[in-house]
Amino acid sequence: MNRQFKGIVIKEKPTGEKGKLLYVLTESQGVVQVTATGARSISASYLKSVQLFAYSELSVYEKNGRMTLTEASLIESFYGIRSDLSAFAAASYMAELCFLVSVAENDGVLSLFLNALYALANSLAETKLVKAVFEYCLCFILGLAPDFSGCAACGEKGNVFSFAESELFCRDCLPQGEETFELGDAAVSALNYLNRCAKNKILSFSLTGEDKDTFCAFCEKYLLYAADIAPKTLDFYKEIENGILPQSKNDT
Ligand SMILES: [Zn+2]
Repeated sequence: MNRQFKGIVIKEKPTGEKGKLLYVLTESQGVVQVTATGARSISASYLKSVQLFAYSELSVYEKNGRMTLTEASLIESFYGIRSDLSAFAAASYMAELCFLVSVAENDGVLSLFLNALYALANSLAETKLVKAVFEYCLCFILGLAPDFSGCAACGEKGNVFSFAESELFCRDCLPQGEETFELGDAAVSALNYLNRCAKNKILSFSLTGEDKDTFCAFCEKYLLYAADIAPKTLDFYKEIENGILPQSKNDT
């Protein structure tokens, strides 16, 4: 059976003599595996569509649940990401997150990932902020976004988060003996904004200095905690962010 759908390559593995096994994030089927024979050959007609982060309209032949690529039309390569190691590391990490959490329905993960890659490829926002917003919006899609509108106990303004309760508290109502996170007013405002804003406005807010650092640290910590995942590519991203260049294979 021949089928067509749009999707972005989030992972690739060599297979066969010159082929690739592609992991493609789609809008309505989650992540699907597509074999692209001859994908590592320079003469492949769909060469640009079988690269990491290539977003394309794909035509596949499906038999016994296995998909083989027959044709592809590139929509966006996000090539700009390759010239910035930090953006590339962030994109790789976000791709792994998509792989870990995406489910087979139109859950909005694809459009969130495309928005984030577009922002990275065109330097619309700082990489660490794009990463943090992606992490938090993923929580939102997964139904894990907490209420940041006020203290969970008294309703007054609050800015301390309890991981055990997954709720925001003011200093007076804060449960004792639990792990907490000091968010501060600016980060709480940003999180409130993300709980309410339109999907195409997720980067339309500003945070600076310590507030930005707090927001970014919280988004990462909260996603890993709430979704209970341990993405391997996060360490790579952190090494790049901290200025530790990956060792070349020839250096050993
Ligand atoms: Zn309170």
